[in-house]
This record gives sequence, C-alpha cells and structure tokens, in this order.
Amino acid sequence: MLTLERPRTTAEAIDLLAGDAESRVLAGGQSLVPLLTLGFAEPEMVVSLDRCAELDDLTIEEPTLRAGAMVTTRRIELDPLISQRCGLLAAAAAKVGSPHVRNFGTLVGNLCHADPGSDLIPAALCLGAEVEVRSSRGSRRLSVDELVEGPFVTSLADDELAVAAHLPLRSPSWRHGYRKLALRVGDLAVATAAALVRLEDDTVAEARLVVGGALRRATRIGRLESALAGTVASEAAGVALATGWIDDLAGDLLPDAATPPEYLRAMLPRFVAATVRDAADPLRDEDRYGQREH
Ligand SMILES: Cc1cc2nc3c(=O)[nH]c(=O)nc-3n(C[C@H](O)[C@H](O)[C@H](O)COP(=O)(O)OP(=O)(O)OC[C@H]3O[C@@H](n4cnc5c(N)ncnc54)[C@H](O)[C@@H]3O)c2cc1C
Repeated sequence: MLTLERPRTTAEAIDLLAGDAESRVLAGGQSLVPLLTLGFAEPEMVVSLDRCAELDDLTIEEPTLRAGAMVTTRRIELDPLISQRCGLLAAAAAKVGSPHVRNFGTLVGNLCHADPGSDLIPAALCLGAEVEVRSSRGSRRLSVDELVEGPFVTSLADDELAVAAHLPLRSPSWRHGYRKLALRVGDLAVATAAALVRLEDDTVAEARLVVGGALRRATRIGRLESALAGTVASEAAGVALATGWIDDLAGDLLPDAATPPEYLRAMLPRFVAATVRDAADPLRDEDRYGQREH
C-alpha cells in the first residue's frame, strides 16, 4: 500500500528517504501524480514537500540566486529578482504549459523530472545553474549537465533530495533569447533554444547556446559558442546559420513521427539562428519599440 508522508522540515524529509521503503519525492505533482495515476510509478512511499516551508525561499546569495525546491514556475516567471538578474529563466518559465501547471510545478521538480521537452532545463543549463542535493550521507552540487543524464533519467540516488537550484546572477551586459517550438500551445517542446550573449560595444565577447527538446537531453553547442566570440552582433545570426554545428548533434537527435531527423536537421540551425538574433542584435529593441508604437 502507498503511504504519503508530509514532513515539516528538510531534515525529516531526508530521514524518510534514507529508510528502507522505496520512495519518491513529491513537489508540485504535475508530473509525478499522472505517473502514479497511470501506474507508471509504484513507490511504497511518497514524501511530499508541501509542508517544508524552508524550501520555499528565493534569496540572493551572491554570486547566485538560490531557489528552494518548492519555488514554483509561476514565481520564476513573475518574480522581479529573476527577471532582472536571470531573465532567460523567466522567459523560459513563461512558456511552460498553462497557468495551472506553472502555479503548482516547481523549478527543481522540473529539473529532476528530466523531460527532454522541458523549458527550464535548457535555460538553467545555459545560465550555468547548479542543483544542491542532500541525503543522510552528505551533500553535493551538480551542474544541470551532471544531473540530467537522458530522457527522464537523472544521476540522483533514491535517498537524495534536491533542496535548491543555484542560479548565477548575470550582469546587464548579458542579453538573452529563448525560443520554443511546440505542436500546440501548452504542449511540451519539440525544440527549445536558449542563448546568452555578452556584448562589448557591438561585438559578441562571449556566448552560451543550448538546444533542447529535439535532443536526448539539452546540450550546449560548443562549436557555435566559439564561432560567435568576436563576431559583430548584427552578423551573429548569420554565423549561427553557417557554422555546421548541427553535425555535432546528429547522434543525439530525438526524432518522432511528426519531427523526422531530416526535418530536425533542417529546422534547428534556423531556429537557433533566430534565437541568437533575439539575444545579440542591438537593433532588436528598436524593432520591438517601433512595433509597439504602431
Ligand atoms: C499538462 C502539462 C503541461 C506541461 N507543460 C510543460 C511545458 O510546456 N514545459 C515544461 O518545462 N514543463 C511542462 N510540464 C511539466 C511541469 O512544468 C513540471 O515542472 C514538472 O511536471 C515537474 O515539476 P513538479 O514540481 O510538478 O514535480 P513533481 O511532479 O512533483 O515531480 C517530478 C519528478 O521529480 C522528482 N522530484 C521532484 N522534486 C524533487 C526534489 N526536490 N528532489 C528530488 N526529486 C524530486 C519526483 O520524485 C518526480 O520523479 C507540464 C506538465 C503538465 C502536467
């Protein structure tokens, strides 16, 4: 029989996970509850974090922003601290599912679920976020790359609780772009692209690029990041289109009936180039301002 435990502290939750029962952590329940209902997950015990008030904190701990395990996607979308200092994550959060899913689902739960169609995993990876993990054996910090191993597979042990995400605070010289392609509004992504660029005058000094959705797991595009460094900002999208980085990802593509490999190989470079343009092109803000005036 399934037991539900609702500890009031992180320490109690960790003690419960250290016990013999086969257990699962419940955060916002947006993914776990359907899995339980359909019988795809059959733990002996569910450890709900809903009463652990200490996991609801969003605090600046320079040089990062610490988001506790119960901070919801809605808060990530709307909190001014996030939009000012981690704008890329706020932009990605706004694309998640529906208001209902954002109100209940959590950032950390989303990372731990490791869905390839996630919006928050590529944004967190692009930002350089880390997840703080605790168990009765100690604590450790994992980069998003170390946490997410493949579709719905993470490196977390059964007794480990992810207590927070640490999001590097980025200066205003970093600009972002985030795009999502989904078959229907509210669906998980067919493809995502996250871009961060640091401009010096009109030149890209540094760039971080991630592609997700269409891959087994969200992946940084190292070849394109290097190619963009030193590029004039208005030419960055052209570089993203011309650099043959898609060949590096060929083995990791995650095609399905609606999105065959040929489609992904043709679409992704254009999709990423558009995201790079969103982030890097200094004319972009003027364009948007102009559009708003009409
Ligand atoms: C209709 C629908 C549409 C959606 N659309 C999108 C979308 O467009 N984009 C998107 O990114 N996401 C989408 N989602 C997923 C959603 O955003 C949630 O983020 C996601 O379901 C997991 O967050 P949660 O807090 O609900 O976790 P839960 O469902 O509670 O848990 C998910 C998994 O993570 C584990 N887990 C959770 N928290 C922890 C923790 N602190 N430590 C260790 N393990 C933990 C659980 O044991 C479970 O295995 C959608 C979900 C639904 C139902």
